Amino acid sequence: MDEMIYEYIVVRYGELSTKGKNRKDFVNCLARNIKSALKDYPKLEYAVMHDGIFIYLNGEDFNGIKKALLTVFGYSYFAGAVKTSRDLDDIKKAALRIALNRPYKTFKIACRRQDKSYPLNSDTLNRAIAGHILASSTLKVDVHHPDLMLYTVVKKDAVYLMDDKIEGPGGYPVGINKRAMLMLSGGIDSPVAGYLSMKRGLKIECLHFASMPYTSKQALDKVLELARRLSLYQSDITVHIIPFTELQLAIYKHVDESYCITVMRRMMYRIADKICQKRAINVITNGESLGQVASQTPESMQVISQVADTLILRPVCMMDKLEIIDMAKKIDTYETSILPYEDCCTIFTPHNPVTHPKLDKCLYYESLFDYAALVDKCVENDEIRKLVYHQDNDEDLF
Ligand code: ATP
Ligand code: MG
Repeated sequence: MDEMIYEYIVVRYGELSTKGKNRKDFVNCLARNIKSALKDYPKLEYAVMHDGIFIYLNGEDFNGIKKALLTVFGYSYFAGAVKTSRDLDDIKKAALRIALNRPYKTFKIACRRQDKSYPLNSDTLNRAIAGHILASSTLKVDVHHPDLMLYTVVKKDAVYLMDDKIEGPGGYPVGINKRAMLMLSGGIDSPVAGYLSMKRGLKIECLHFASMPYTSKQALDKVLELARRLSLYQSDITVHIIPFTELQLAIYKHVDESYCITVMRRMMYRIADKICQKRAINVITNGESLGQVASQTPESMQVISQVADTLILRPVCMMDKLEIIDMAKKIDTYETSILPYEDCCTIFTPHNPVTHPKLDKCLYYESLFDYAALVDKCVENDEIRKLVYHQDNDEDLF
């Protein structure tokens, strides 16, 4: 397939999401994200317009760019485009070139005049272009299911012709809703929660509680690999690795076995809350799913999450496990998630975790040891790394 005929890519904004006073921020954020996703194509030139982002290809590889654009959230669709003058003969020639570019059998022309002062109306243009293609090729018109839908947009200075509209992954541009701290375990749920958070416009940082030496280096590598995979959608990702073992051991020393998970998760939220404050992040997001395990009953979630001031969002809360698994496969985190390394929760799994924990009991157990000092120590020993999708080796921030 010859993609060389394209001179431009036109990226169209979504209808609903770009209205109102935030439109400018939205478009600027999207443009920034697109440029970042396409940074490996230095010859591209951009024009950020009110009706779309025009990317002039300058001979860069369309297929590679297409793949990269599909990792950017916040636009409606994009299409390869050819630009011509507003002269009818030029438009006809360009249309024929696109029609003959692939072995299409049928076509339909869809003209839209953005500049209403153009002397020919849409219908006349449609007929003129279609007539030229019919006379110069073996293609037939099919208005219902054409192989080629040829979009023609008449603007003030030029005319753009586009074929296939390629739908984007939806959502909002990453960063438009500021940042969120994703609690990232090695499981299936939290990477999906991260993906859905980015899709809603949150740039994520990841927070992982590691229980070395009870958990292995492979277990940590697995989490870093998950983070790296998530970074595909936001160019780079910051990961916080919290040494959690000392605090966990103290919990298991002082807390009744049935309350260990509840208290441990309260500690996770306390730490997450403090790290968020330190990083000026306003949202915690995680892979909790209603009813999935003892610590995710409504009562458990209430007793656990009340220790945090930061807003907590749970993107997969209402999803079935099978739906989460499907999405994990789609975003290519599933195979990594099911690698068999233990994480901090599986190591200390009690036999009888409470499903309806009581707050006063939590407070009682927590009064038996100086957890605050241990929480602070975790926050201080936060090990920060920055990962980039297209780089095998991660780079330490400090
Ligand atoms: P699974 O896919 O097996 O359910 P999970 O990651 O959902 O794994 P849970 O025990 O259900 O594990 O934990 C619920 C949520 O708590 C996780 O989705 C994650 O957001 C957070 N969490 C659990 N363990 C850790 C950890 N070690 N570090 C950071 N976050 C964690
Ligand atoms: Mg889970």
